[in-house]
Amino acid sequence: MRATQFLIATQKETPADAVVVSHKLMLRAGLIRKMASGLYNWLPLGLRVLRKVEAVVRDEMDKAGALELLMPVVQPAELWQESGRWEQYGGELLRIKDRHDNDFCLGPTHEEVITDLVRNEIKSYKALPANFYQIQTKFRDETRPRFGVMRAREFLMKDAYSFHIGQDSLQATYDTMHQAYSNVFSRLGLDFRAVAADTGSIGGSGSHEFHVLADSGEDDIAFSSKSDFVANVELAEAIAPANTRAPAQEVFTEVATPGAHSVEDVAKLLNAELSQVLKTLIVKAAEDENGEQGLVALVVRGDHELNEIKAEKLPQVASPLTMASDAEINAAVGASAGSLGPKGLSFPVIVDRAAAVASDFVCGANKDGYHLTGVNWERDIPLPVVTDIRNVVAGDPSPDGQGVIEIKRGIEVGHIFQLGDKYSQAMKATVLDENGKQKVVSMGCYGIGVSRVVAAAIEQNHDDNGIIWPAALTPFDVALVPINMHKSAAVAEQCEALYQALQQAGLDVLFMDEAKARLGVMLADIELMGLPHQIIVGDRGLEAGNVEYKNRASGEKQDVAVADVVAFVK
Ligand code: ATP
Ligand code: MG
Ligand code: MG
Ligand code: MG
Repeated sequence: MRATQFLIATQKETPADAVVVSHKLMLRAGLIRKMASGLYNWLPLGLRVLRKVEAVVRDEMDKAGALELLMPVVQPAELWQESGRWEQYGGELLRIKDRHDNDFCLGPTHEEVITDLVRNEIKSYKALPANFYQIQTKFRDETRPRFGVMRAREFLMKDAYSFHIGQDSLQATYDTMHQAYSNVFSRLGLDFRAVAADTGSIGGSGSHEFHVLADSGEDDIAFSSKSDFVANVELAEAIAPANTRAPAQEVFTEVATPGAHSVEDVAKLLNAELSQVLKTLIVKAAEDENGEQGLVALVVRGDHELNEIKAEKLPQVASPLTMASDAEINAAVGASAGSLGPKGLSFPVIVDRAAAVASDFVCGANKDGYHLTGVNWERDIPLPVVTDIRNVVAGDPSPDGQGVIEIKRGIEVGHIFQLGDKYSQAMKATVLDENGKQKVVSMGCYGIGVSRVVAAAIEQNHDDNGIIWPAALTPFDVALVPINMHKSAAVAEQCEALYQALQQAGLDVLFMDEAKARLGVMLADIELMGLPHQIIVGDRGLEAGNVEYKNRASGEKQDVAVADVVAFVK
C-alpha cells in the first residue's frame, strides 16, 4: 500500500472521554473514529486489524469443525417472545418497529435465530452434532458505553452455536471449542486466561470466559496463589463445592491487636469461656481442605523451641469433636507425640488475619496459655474455603482450599457456555432419535468479541510512542520509509524496487511515498501505528549498499545490506 493512496489519519490530541490507553491509541493512530456514543467508524487502518482477528478466528472455527453462516441483525420479536427473553432482556435490547407496526430488535446475540433455523432444517439425530458460526455485527444498548470499541453499543462478534443429543456430545464440542479459543488467543499473541464463569442471563450450566489480563479490564479475576483455580469474581456460588466452609472471617476470630494474647486473653476478648474458645479452635482447625474432619495440631518440638513449630495434619479424630484432652490428642498424634514434652501441642489463634496473610506469621497460643509465634499461615493452618467467590478479596483463601486469592483485572474477550436445553425446550427444537422418538436437542454457545480483541491487544502491547502490534494483528508488516525521495532518484528507485520485492515475499508493506514528507513525522506516525518492521532508505546508506532497519518492539536499529533486507524482515 502506498501512503499516498491510503488514509493515514494519525492525530496528536484525544478527546477527554478517552481514558484507557487502547482507546487513546486507536484514535491517535487513526484506527477508529467516534460517530456517536458507543458507535464507531473503523478507518481503513483499523479495519485491516479487525480483518486479521477475523481471519484467525475463522481459521480456528473452521478447524474446530464449525460451519460459517450469516444471520440477520434485525430479529422479529416473536422469536424472543418464544424464548421468554423479550420480557427478560432489559434495556440492552434495542427494540424497534417496522412500518407495519411489527416489533423487532437489533440482535445482541443470536440464540433465538439459530434455534429457529435449526429446528426447521435439522430433523434427525443423524445430522448432529452440528456447530454453526457467524462473524457479525451485534447491537447492545449498553448503559455506559466506554473505552472506545471495548464497550461499544455496536460491535463485531464471532458467535457459534452447537446442537447435540446428550451431554457427552455437548461436552465434547465444548472441549473442542475451549481448545479452539485457546488457539485463537495464543495465535493473536495475547496473554490470556480461561476463567470459570457465571452463566448470566443466557442461562444453563458450564461456562468459561477468556480474559486478556490488563489493568484497564472491567472484571476482577480471582487466581489462587497455589493451584490453577481461576474464576471471575462475578461468578455465583454455584462453582464452590456444596460442602464448602464459611469465609475465613467466620472460621478464625479476629482480635484487634496482634500481640501477646494468651488463650485466657482471647477468651476474655471474645467474652467466652476458655473451654469454648479451645473447643472452637480445635474444631475449626480440624477441617481439612476437603471439608473432612481431621485434626491439625501445631507441635512444638523440644522444650518449646519456637522456631521449630511444625504442623502435622492428622487424618481422623474422634467425632463429634469436643474439647480434646491431652490423652485424646496424644492418641491422635500417635507415637511421635510421646517426644513432645508436656506442652507439646497447641492450637492456632489467629490474632490478625490480614496481617498474618501479609506477613506469613500469626500468633498462636497453646492450651496452657503460652504465646507462640512463628506459625506459618499456609504451612501450619489449613485454609478454610469461601463459598461465594463474589465476595472474595485478595488474601482470602482460595475456594479450592489451596493457597490464597490474588485479584487481577481482566478484559473478557471470549465466552463459552453449555446452554443445555434452555432455548431448545422453550422453542421446541427437537429431532428424531435412534428410536424414532422426538428428542429436545441440547445446545452450546460460544462468543468472541472480535472488535474488543483489537483494543485488548493494544492494552497489552504498547509503549510511550504508540502501539506495538503482535505479528498476527499488524495492519502492515513493514513500513518502507524514504529519506528525501524528491531529491534523490537513487532513493526513489530503490524504494520502488524494495516495495515490489517485499510484496512478492508475501509481506504487507506501507510505502511512505509522499515525496516531501518530513522524516521525523513519518517515523513518529509509524511508531504510533505500531508496524513491526521499519526499513529506512537514504542516500548515505545506499552509498554503502545498505538500508537502515528498525524493530518496533525492541527499538533496535541496524544497517542491513539492500540485497539481504527482504530475507531479513521475513
Ligand atoms: P461484558 O461482561 O463485557 O458485558 P458479556 O458477558 O455481556 O460481556 P457475552 O454475551 O458473553 O458478553 O458476549 C460475547 C463476547 O462479546 C464477550 O466475551 C465480549 O468479548 C464481547 N462483547 C460483549 N459486549 C460487548 C460490547 N459492548 N462491546 C464490545 N464487545 C462486547
Ligand atoms: Mg454485557
Ligand atoms: Mg461478562
Ligand atoms: Mg460473557
